Amino acid sequence: RTVTVRRNNVTLNDIFISIKTSKVFHQSRVVHIVKTWFNLVKDQTYIFTDGDDDQLNHTTHGHMINTRCGEGRTRPNLGCKMGSEFDAFLASGRKWWCRFDDDNYVNPARLLQLVNRFNWWSDVYIGRLSVPFFAARYHGKWRRYKFAHGGAGCCISRSLGKRMEPWGGRKSLPRLQNITSINDDAALGFIITAILKVNISLSDQLHSHYERLADLNPSTFSEQVSFSYSKQNTINTDHKKFKSKSFSRQQDPTRFYSLHCLLYPAADICQ
Ligand code: UDP
Ligand code: MN
Repeated sequence: RTVTVRRNNVTLNDIFISIKTSKVFHQSRVVHIVKTWFNLVKDQTYIFTDGDDDQLNHTTHGHMINTRCGEGRTRPNLGCKMGSEFDAFLASGRKWWCRFDDDNYVNPARLLQLVNRFNWWSDVYIGRLSVPFFAARYHGKWRRYKFAHGGAGCCISRSLGKRMEPWGGRKSLPRLQNITSINDDAALGFIITAILKVNISLSDQLHSHYERLADLNPSTFSEQVSFSYSKQNTINTDHKKFKSKSFSRQQDPTRFYSLHCLLYPAADICQ
């Protein structure tokens, strides 16, 4: 008797990548993404924002989407934005949705390997666990749920995305958030783990600025899927690996350029 092992073999073209941002961050954050990793996945990556910006829309070849969800960091605005990313994923027909914040660096090659450990036709939710135990009141009952921290990025398979449709869109996600009083990334986790009863698949290759990024060992950078930064918290690039092309702190406060040139030395910005 032979056992047939079905293989995924998805390519980067099968992944819909979304980045959540706000007009106030186009100059300070999105610019670093557009100059680095965005160039490796231009065709499948879209930037979801809340205002018009002709220049950004031009440099991204029309991949900037003004969600018109409203400016300002309110729960309904952010939920509408996340819901717009979700709607665009379903409409794209792609097999995976991987979404990130505008302070994430993503290594596309590793992202592809990460999703290829799973099947897109199964219900899959990959992420870094946010503080482990949460509960929210929903239809009169307290429900426990888990969620992938939005600041590290997460991926959702097409099969799971389809099942999330009644709650995940730009109208329905803010409604669910209103009922449960939870944030957008937590709301995705609530739909998946509390309503649909699908488990989260944990990855330690996804990183947000809620961990001490300087503790990440530079010799493992090439294995990581996502990175992040905040003012006082960046990856450590004071390492001999970075000697070939170095950017000063002033030139590269996020360390994204140094990282990009370590991982992809042939990129334009590294010459
Ligand atoms: N964000 C947004 N609108 C806002 C504020 C923040 O869309 O008014 C987005 C921001 O672009 C980022 C994410 O929400 O992608 C998280 O924001 P930030 O990194 O500032 O805060 P954190 O939650 O990581 O501390
Ligand atoms: Mn952040």
